[in-house]
Amino acid sequence: MRQYSLEFGKKKPRSLQDFDLVVVGAGIFGLTIAERAANQLGRSVCVLERRDHLGGNCHSQSDAESGIEYHCYGSHLFHTSNEEVWQYIQQFTGFTNYRHRVLSVYRGQVYSMPINLGTICAFFGRAMTPDEARRLVAEQIASESIERPANLEQKAVSLIGRPLYEAFIRGYTKKQWQTDPQKLPPEIITRLPVRWNFEPYYFADAHEGLPVDGYAAMFQKMVDSPRIEIRLGVDFMDVRQHVSPRQLIVYTGPLDRYFGDSLGQLGWRTLDFEKQTLAVDDFQGAPVINYADEDVPYTRIHEFKHYHPERHYVAGKTVIYREYSRFADQADEPYYPINTPRDRQLAAAYQELARRQHHVLFGGRLGLYQYLDMDRAVAAALQMFREQVVGFFEPSDGGLARPATHAA
Ligand code: FAD
Ligand code: UDP
Repeated sequence: MRQYSLEFGKKKPRSLQDFDLVVVGAGIFGLTIAERAANQLGRSVCVLERRDHLGGNCHSQSDAESGIEYHCYGSHLFHTSNEEVWQYIQQFTGFTNYRHRVLSVYRGQVYSMPINLGTICAFFGRAMTPDEARRLVAEQIASESIERPANLEQKAVSLIGRPLYEAFIRGYTKKQWQTDPQKLPPEIITRLPVRWNFEPYYFADAHEGLPVDGYAAMFQKMVDSPRIEIRLGVDFMDVRQHVSPRQLIVYTGPLDRYFGDSLGQLGWRTLDFEKQTLAVDDFQGAPVINYADEDVPYTRIHEFKHYHPERHYVAGKTVIYREYSRFADQADEPYYPINTPRDRQLAAAYQELARRQHHVLFGGRLGLYQYLDMDRAVAAALQMFREQVVGFFEPSDGGLARPATHAA
């Protein structure tokens, strides 16, 4: 990887037009494309990133005071059942055997989350077998007679009954989305499983873990090629006039911004993180605790040292994040697509415009206006590489392939 430099005496910075491929955004999607194009096709790639680091929202760094690695944009756990993605990503890092667990506090008591048999027994105050718990919840569901759930509340009640919904879902969801669950789409809640046994783990994928040396080291390794040049602190919008109209661009920035918001702005939620380095050894005894009560202003607290029990961090210090959720303004980092019916319509209209940009491929969570876990972002990038990027440079119809510039 080469860093762009204007220092006197260094090699003259190259024009963007000298590269075979320009990737906008150094998130996991953009870096997967850059890595493949450089290492599989021998193409020269320039990655433009407006932030001052690689990795997009998956970036992590060491806390200056304690050395504890923290995930700058909120906890990121790698998990996948996609074998291609798992094989691919392991070229750049080993993974620890960490398995994610979450707890939820409701009215001063701590419960297992997602809702499992332990949560149900503790909440209703008695030991139950899986069948007894299913029967109890089934009776609660039946008493609501919801046939076709039309919103998040109805969907949740039809899955877990009203008492559990009101305790663990309503307040948390209201805080997270700043919207009444009766006005949210039902799909959001289907991301959260319900377990009729005592299985405490959050994810049920075949593979899970955290990069042994951290996310930053993993991303560095991905771009460790003389064919890849990284330009940090560069906004594509400020340099787009320097790209040739015949050059391939993979754009992973926000879909609406590419078109100057000409049709209107897509709705996003953003997060605010309140970071503290505390002089205690263990603040909460777990990596993430959710707060279900509506009157607690934050949704959850992350304590990052628990992600790496195998490391020997300095004793007597810990790093925590309190997470708050709100609607995003123009200046905020977009985190979750809100996906109202208006948003979906607008995204479809932008996607129509995007299809007419023949040398620009739109990808990643921002470019697709879609929530994507990391493994899905990698899978989508590998698919785009196979189906669109390779064909651009090596057309199968016998047309002239663009020669590699070997710009390294
Ligand atoms: P990004 O990471 O957003 O990267 C896009 C990059 O493009 C950014 O760095 C941005 O600065 C840059 N960019 C945008 N516009 C421009 C421009 N005009 N010029 C130059 N650069 C630009 N996934 C999991 O698998 N496990 C988890 O535990 C998990 N936790 C999450 C927690 C939160 C709070 C959130 C919001 C997401 C979580 N995810 C998780 C999802 C994960 O963050 C995404 O899968 C991942 O970020 C997708 O990568 P990307 O490259 O598409 O986007
Ligand atoms: N959710 C909830 N209570 C919890 C955890 C999650 O009500 O303790 C709901 C909430 O609406 C959230 C959805 O379940 O948006 C999906 O949860 P997940 O953990 O997948 O979402 P994330 O935290 O990544 O938004």
